[in-house]
Amino acid sequence: MKTRRPAKPAAKARPAARGSRAARRVYFFGAGKADGTAGMKDLLGGKGANLAEMTNLGVPVPPGFTISTAECHEYTKAGGRISAALKKDALAALAKVEKLIGMTFGNASNPLLVSVRSGARASMPGMMDTILNLGLNQKTVKGLAASADGRFAYDSFRRFIQMYADVVLNVPRERFESRLEALKEARGKHLDTELGADDWEQLVHEYLDLVLKETGKAFPQDPHEQLWGAIGAVFRSWNNERAIRYRRLNDIPESWGTAVNVQAMVFGNMGDDCATGVAFTRDPSTGENTFYGEYLKNAQGEDVVAGIRTPQPINKRARRKDQAHLPTLEEEMPSAYRELVRIYKGLEKHYRDMQDIEFTIQRGKLWMLQTRNGKRTVRAAVKIAVDMARERLITREQAVQRVDPRALDQLLHPTLDPRAVKKVVARGLPASPGAAVGNVVFNADEAEARAKAGEKVILVRIETSPEDIHGMHAAEGILTARGGMTSHAAVVARGMGKCCVAGCGQILIDYAKGEMRIEGHVVAAGDPITIDGSTGEVMLGSVPTVTPELGGEFSELMKWADQFRKLRVRTNADTPNDAKIARQFGAEGIGLCRTEHMFFEPNRILAVREMILASDLPKRRRALDKLLPMQRGDFTEIFRAMEGLPVTIRLLDPPLHEFLPHEDDEIREVAANLGTNAAEVRAKIDSLKEFNPMLGHRGCRLGITFPEIYAMQVRAIVEAACEVAQSGVRVQPEIMVPLVAHVGELSRLRKLIEDEIAGVLAEHKGVKVKPTIGTMIEVPRAALVAEAIARYADFFSFGTNDLTQMTYALSRDDAGKFLSYYQESGILEDDPFVSIDEEGVGALIRIGVENGRKTRRDLKVGICGEHGGDPKSVKFCARVGLDYVSCSPYRVPVARLAAAQAALEAGAAKPKVRGR
Ligand code: ADP
Ligand code: MG
Ligand code: MG
Repeated sequence: MKTRRPAKPAAKARPAARGSRAARRVYFFGAGKADGTAGMKDLLGGKGANLAEMTNLGVPVPPGFTISTAECHEYTKAGGRISAALKKDALAALAKVEKLIGMTFGNASNPLLVSVRSGARASMPGMMDTILNLGLNQKTVKGLAASADGRFAYDSFRRFIQMYADVVLNVPRERFESRLEALKEARGKHLDTELGADDWEQLVHEYLDLVLKETGKAFPQDPHEQLWGAIGAVFRSWNNERAIRYRRLNDIPESWGTAVNVQAMVFGNMGDDCATGVAFTRDPSTGENTFYGEYLKNAQGEDVVAGIRTPQPINKRARRKDQAHLPTLEEEMPSAYRELVRIYKGLEKHYRDMQDIEFTIQRGKLWMLQTRNGKRTVRAAVKIAVDMARERLITREQAVQRVDPRALDQLLHPTLDPRAVKKVVARGLPASPGAAVGNVVFNADEAEARAKAGEKVILVRIETSPEDIHGMHAAEGILTARGGMTSHAAVVARGMGKCCVAGCGQILIDYAKGEMRIEGHVVAAGDPITIDGSTGEVMLGSVPTVTPELGGEFSELMKWADQFRKLRVRTNADTPNDAKIARQFGAEGIGLCRTEHMFFEPNRILAVREMILASDLPKRRRALDKLLPMQRGDFTEIFRAMEGLPVTIRLLDPPLHEFLPHEDDEIREVAANLGTNAAEVRAKIDSLKEFNPMLGHRGCRLGITFPEIYAMQVRAIVEAACEVAQSGVRVQPEIMVPLVAHVGELSRLRKLIEDEIAGVLAEHKGVKVKPTIGTMIEVPRAALVAEAIARYADFFSFGTNDLTQMTYALSRDDAGKFLSYYQESGILEDDPFVSIDEEGVGALIRIGVENGRKTRRDLKVGICGEHGGDPKSVKFCARVGLDYVSCSPYRVPVARLAAAQAALEAGAAKPKVRGR
């Protein structure tokens, strides 16, 4: 989770005061020339900057102007007032628009209508509302009706009243929608398209009455009043709850502000030679290089994504099964389609990235209303990056930087086990790929609460809206009853890389009862279901999943990443199986092999307990003799699996009581097995118990009080290494001592380890095995006295899990509770258990590395905490000069990519520094 950090971006957001260009309040675009460019997102917002860019490229864009983000701050500062200066500039720009298209704002016979659209620097889909058809009133609507037709004019007017009342006057949308439904029912009509001019005109009167009733004031008839009202509402919407929540989730600083775009209307709802649509220049789920999109005839604005009517595919390749009967844009409006293809290709070439475009066709003529870099699944991101590098649109370096490493592990995540028995009860649209299993929840707050408590949930909604985003984040997957491939749920889920099945009409949700019906089955909140976003299938219960094969573009991209990165990537693996998986993902060694897990296996735990409960040394030795061959066997397999790559093995770490039984009958059983009585076993357990086992008798402290345990482990490691080496496989064992706080601990244990190694090697003359000895740095003191510790260490490995707990005096389990404290106070940007940075645990790491290398320049340094798989932390590790990171097997590709990006970022940063 992230918090805002306003200081830095704010400085950038504020335009330089000098230079007339930067001080402009309003940026005009139209007729092939624009004041702005795509590079001016800070000032114009993403939408405005791209409208300007498209205009300059000669793409047909309705003319208009963008009010800069700086004015958003001015507006807020002035207590919600639009300054006279801004009004003057806006009116001048509006006059230019009027002149260009030969229509006049507010003119009774030939009225110019405009849209008022928000747009921040980063795209915030659906976060702030657009008002269309502004400029209509009871006079101008007649002019519009006369010049076009009545049905269209009144339909446009009722849309405007509803949007304006919703956004500016705070009259809930539903009030209007229920009037519309009532009217349709009264007229015996089902579809909006079946209503005629008279119907819409009557609705307009009802709407105007409604506004008067709800607000106590008449709907503003003066177009200029409408305009200022709309502009102010856009500025205010920057601080509405939805927007604030979205910013929090996406790390967007509050200080950016939004721009306002005022643009001449074009109409997709003038008749059957009109349409409006959205499209992606490549398939946003798979990344396939095919033009993909949907449109609706005789429709306006958000109709396509609102799910009111089933949208039509723009071409045959974009056609879904349920659209088989629908004609395509390519068939219905071939010349507009050809123009659209020409434009999308040009835009993609120009932006060198996949574009998400919005368009409207008015009487056969195509107009572009938006372009932006399209959201995509990770799978698509990888394919598009690699394809574009192959097409020479971008370089390989750029391709590697295009993919978010955080998202990458979704690719490695499970799909349904093809052999699993599954009971498909319904089918929706495959809106965002991957499979998810979880318990059903019907609202976003509950999804968030349950996920926080560790439950896996599937968020099930009739349809989603921006209010649901936090719940979508928390859920494993999302299932909706309504909406298409470009519905809110689908678009947002793809952006999050979250599995989503959308528009599953067979589910009937009853929010009040907290249940849904699917084809005769009743599924209550809390019941498990499985959804497959790649096929659209919905299944009852939990279906087993498998990890997908990785190849093709993914391995190509990883190959490129490996060419750029300097940091090595190892894995944390305790078993040969983990080691094998990690090697498939490209691990270059094991950074942490914990030996205690080997002790917990059912057939071994008894020997371990015997060893712990032994009353004297000979008894303990006897137990250890039983464990030796078992450990040796484990290490042999791991060395074989790693085929000569380095393997860091940590000697026993946890406090011994963790291995002892808790339940009475278990205690009796152990006592019987060991020929003692339960009371004695219990007394031993009590004597080993610690209040805070994290800080107790563990790690190297155990090694010092029970040297024979570590001696056995070292023997097992070196014997295994010799055995494997003798079979012709290279081995590189690295023996690691945990929890060292004082150099004395390591110096004593190093001697013990060296002696044992020498003993084993003497028994294996001529075998080439050279184990190294190092330590984990996981106690703050160890980092501080690293200079001394390095005298006895061939390597350091930062154990950042414990180091974080100790540095923050915070246990991992409690961290969740404290996280909100850190976030709300704004003191910490990231969860310290997730990301390392300079201000947190990173400070200790930097000291540890620098001091350690003062003693030993060639000191090998790595990190083996969970941070090793977090991209931000990986980049930090690269910056402080670590040799490697080590992470869980599934995160190895994440770390490889992050390491490559770190190297590329460092490379890009260098010349700048020199230039100064
Ligand atoms: P969002 O940021 O939610 O995508 P937009 O500002 O892009 O909102 O507006 C939503 C939709 O409204 C657009 O996709 C387009 O269909 C319609 N729209 C906006 N401006 C105009 C206009 N000038 N003429 C016709 N339609 C418009
Ligand atoms: Mg848009
Ligand atoms: Mg530890």
